[in-house]
Amino acid sequence: MVDISDVLEEEFARNEIPVDQDKIRQILKANRGARIRTWLSICSRCGLCAESCFVYLANDRDPQLSPAYKVKQTLGKMYRRKGRLSRDFFENCYKIAWLQCTMCKRCSVFCPFGIDVATMIAIVRSVCYSQGFKPHSLYEFSENCRKSGNHMAIPKEELIDTCEWMAEEAEDDYRGVAIPVDRRDVKYMYTINPREPVYYPQDISYAGIILSAAGESWTIPSFGWDCTNLPMFCGDRELAGRQVKNVYEKAEELNAENILITECGHAYRSMVFEGPYMAGYDSGHPPVKVVHFVRLLYEYLRDGRIKIDPAKKIKEPVTYQDPCNVSRNGGLWEEARRIIPYLAEDFRDMSPNRDHNHCCGGGGGIMPMGPKYKPVRMASGRVKADQIRATGAKIVIAPCHNCFDQINDLGEEYDLGIKVLSLKEIIVEAMIVPDHMKPEAHE
Ligand code: SF4
Ligand code: SF4
Repeated sequence: MVDISDVLEEEFARNEIPVDQDKIRQILKANRGARIRTWLSICSRCGLCAESCFVYLANDRDPQLSPAYKVKQTLGKMYRRKGRLSRDFFENCYKIAWLQCTMCKRCSVFCPFGIDVATMIAIVRSVCYSQGFKPHSLYEFSENCRKSGNHMAIPKEELIDTCEWMAEEAEDDYRGVAIPVDRRDVKYMYTINPREPVYYPQDISYAGIILSAAGESWTIPSFGWDCTNLPMFCGDRELAGRQVKNVYEKAEELNAENILITECGHAYRSMVFEGPYMAGYDSGHPPVKVVHFVRLLYEYLRDGRIKIDPAKKIKEPVTYQDPCNVSRNGGLWEEARRIIPYLAEDFRDMSPNRDHNHCCGGGGGIMPMGPKYKPVRMASGRVKADQIRATGAKIVIAPCHNCFDQINDLGEEYDLGIKVLSLKEIIVEAMIVPDHMKPEAHE
């Protein structure tokens, strides 16, 4: 692995909390269900998972980076030593849990017993968090959630202003685009990644244009709009549960039929699969149906609610990044492949792809851990860079903010000569503007 010991030294120096064995034992006990006990005891050390892990592949097949070894050195030792653990032990756990595993779940697809390493690494992160070992940047974003309900502490008024501004911008080219806030009784309550209002406000405008063109009944909530969940990656399950609950409760308050998730992978995983448990819904299901934007776009194109101008289809070779939490963990890999023929003439799938695709290297929270960790992301991302290069594609479609930024960085690092685009952007560029949205002709 690339050496970033100076960064780690700085992280660890922030933590002055002494190891609290009772707390460790409490968390371990709470998680010692049949599933975890079985997984820890049945691993046969067959090594089949090693070749599935991009971190292992990208780092000279170092045996210490095989999924089974990572669990053995962390959660396995936590249970074996019954919580009697030193600071040195936690420093090693930190490296494994945040630098060597993005919790992409690819290895569990290959394990003959279906052992879910990512779930066990999530417990490791929770124990580390309880002992003050957590990436500072993830912690700061998480604390913003505690104070404001969103990761970037964006005040309500600012979000509303951004929505109004983006609707006005869109109005220059598309008549009647509305970005309604807090409308009740809608079909979709649209939730976004806080990077959108801060860095990519045009993404909100693209969504407004598409949803208006489709004649959709929708709204953005003024609170509970942030569908992302960095507390989940930081190891703070309680706060992670609060974060999803904000969204569920707002959807119930507005009487929205569905919660719509922007092009973000981990938000979907959090809202659909992990959120209900973290928020205390024993059924394991969210109280309001959750739909990812990839699914909705597929339906719009299929049903002719959005029409694409064939002359505007992309001519250059295109590939598609299956975000782990949209495809493998979200089940939407076929929908994506049904969308692409509408948009591109020369599609070249990566190999492997769909639910077997590799993580881009920016997942699991390492992207928002900040630039100091970029060397780790770039080294582990070599597998993704090789996959993209092999397709010969000049455009990479990435329906996830993390993948988008990571692949942009990989493009520069590995000189891939690519452009990364979101589905929304491509669709807005290529769609046939419906008559009701054509700008008024001026004399
Ligand atoms: S979850 Fe992904 S990153 Fe973590 S060990 Fe498994 S394959 Fe590797
Ligand atoms: S594939 Fe499964 S059983 Fe084999 S070493 Fe990996 S985790 Fe253990």
